Amino acid sequence: MKRVWSGSPLHDTAHLQNLLEQAGIGCFIKHRELASAMGDLPFLECSPELWVLRDEQSLRATAVIREALRPDTDAPAAHWHCNECGEDNEAQFAVCWRCGQRDPATPE
Ligand SMILES: [Zn+2]
Repeated sequence: MKRVWSGSPLHDTAHLQNLLEQAGIGCFIKHRELASAMGDLPFLECSPELWVLRDEQSLRATAVIREALRPDTDAPAAHWHCNECGEDNEAQFAVCWRCGQRDPATPE
């Protein structure tokens, strides 16, 4: 088993799990029960994690997740505005070319 995702809110993780299962990748969410206790536990210990059952499917799973998390898959050429300096940036840039601020919609 291999972890392919962690750190997002539980509802996002559940969505990713659905996508992976649709792609034929067996997976499960770890720490699901702990997430409901959020507030009593340090964030990193209870943040939900998505695991694939078969290691050899982890690369494909990562690709599915990355695709799903792209800000707007229907309009890849869309520009985004930097929150920091207001600069207009091309969609393929994850950080503002002027001030280096990360696009908030771009996954790490
Ligand atoms: Zn900027």
